[in-house]
Amino acid sequence: MHDKYLAELEERFVRYVQIDTMADDTSPTSPSTAKQYDLIHLLAEELAEIGAQEIRVTDYGALLATIPGRGPKAASAPTVAFLAHVDTIPGFSGAGVKPQVHRNYAGGSLTFPDAPELTLSPETSPNLAKKIGYDIVTGSGATILGADDKCGVAIVMAMANELLHNSASEHGPVRVCFTPDEEIGRGVDPQLPADLAVDVAYTLDGGEPGAIVYETFSADKAVVTIDGVSTHTGTAKEKMVNALTLAAKVLGVLPQATLTPETADGRAGFIHCYKVVGNAAHVEIAFILRDFTLEGLRANGEVVEKACQVVAAGEPRAKITCTITPQYRNMYYWLAEDMRPVELARAAYRDLGLEPFDEPIRGGTDGSRLTELGTPTPNLFTGMNDVHGPLEWVSLQDMALATAACVRLAELWGQETR
Ligand SMILES: [Zn+2]
Repeated sequence: MHDKYLAELEERFVRYVQIDTMADDTSPTSPSTAKQYDLIHLLAEELAEIGAQEIRVTDYGALLATIPGRGPKAASAPTVAFLAHVDTIPGFSGAGVKPQVHRNYAGGSLTFPDAPELTLSPETSPNLAKKIGYDIVTGSGATILGADDKCGVAIVMAMANELLHNSASEHGPVRVCFTPDEEIGRGVDPQLPADLAVDVAYTLDGGEPGAIVYETFSADKAVVTIDGVSTHTGTAKEKMVNALTLAAKVLGVLPQATLTPETADGRAGFIHCYKVVGNAAHVEIAFILRDFTLEGLRANGEVVEKACQVVAAGEPRAKITCTITPQYRNMYYWLAEDMRPVELARAAYRDLGLEPFDEPIRGGTDGSRLTELGTPTPNLFTGMNDVHGPLEWVSLQDMALATAACVRLAELWGQETR
């Protein structure tokens, strides 16, 4: 298959996951943790070693580099970027990762040296059944593996190495980019699209071979504020209006058997109350609103506004406001106008004998934001599975397939014109 990438991918991946790059959503800085620079600076050195050009670390912690085009059509070809994020999720330890390589998987359960009670098996992770004979990498059970997204980092590095050194490969200009803080929703600095300066981009942050993501949720945030009337409790009769009681009423009026994350899947959106803070005088209720369509998203906002109006009508002495602000948008709105980024990714997969499949995701990606800011950015597979927990795993063979897909995609873009 694409075995020529296996040794390099293993060497890179096993090394990268041992570097702690956990993000911190309570930190005001960018990147959120300085330790993300440990990997960023290492990758910058390694890009220099393999001959990449224009290597630069931005003041918000993104690493950028250029692989010049090669071949007669390179000058007129669009510039394509491949991105991966260096950070791992806050909340589950990414320090002291001890990667385990299980060679030539024979089926059945895999065990973890640091957590004897844990097993990974096809019963709980069905994709594992497809990986007989593959080399599976897991953590040791005590930490996450960090496959999300160090798979993507290793794949982009191996692709860069191939494009720089395989003189038979003709392609347009390629940019590689490693970003911090994707896991806390801060991976795309407003300056990033200008710094990238590309016609199209791909994030390497997806799951099974063949997957391509070009549809995501559209997302708004809603904040309801309730001002009651505060008085001494001893003299409160017919004067006090308790904001906490009104907050409970607002939540009570909202749908509970439908339109919530715990009752929705597939293409259904939701209203999710994730925080209530305050006291008898003043309460703030925070919601996230999600839907694949803008109409559905607007309707969800109206449900919250209506709940506020109903409660306000019953207590005119209180002041209840609802403020809705946009978070990110379904990238399909932009891609629908020019599906070439998706179609060429499908063509690259098919050239490797892979059947492409669409995977709408119930969330956002760095690509959602980049697409909205003018750089169309679908998400491609890396092979990672069961991410964000101790059972996280990936096969080296799937990562090799992803590397080959990126190389092929760069070549296909090299035949296009801007
Ligand atoms: Zn990720």
